[in-house]
Amino acid sequence: MPDATPDDATCPHCDRRFARDDYRDLHLGVDHAGDLTDAERERYEAALAAEEEQLRLFRYKALGLLVLVYFGFLILFAFSLA
Ligand SMILES: [Zn+2]
Repeated sequence: MPDATPDDATCPHCDRRFARDDYRDLHLGVDHAGDLTDAERERYEAALAAEEEQLRLFRYKALGLLVLVYFGFLILFAFSLA
């Protein structure tokens, strides 16, 4: 099967294949930062912004879970004293 379609998530510089297009775009910005076209740079910056947004959301969820676990154990400890 030919894999030269533009939708294929293969790096055009080193032919490495990726499961998703945004993974390839992030790889392009990290490993081939010197020779990106304008379109590739735009896609890299969009993928980077989306990834940072997902990371920020993950950090808030992790912090919320940590707070819940902390106060859960605190309440359990308080009841164990009674
Ligand atoms: Zn590459």
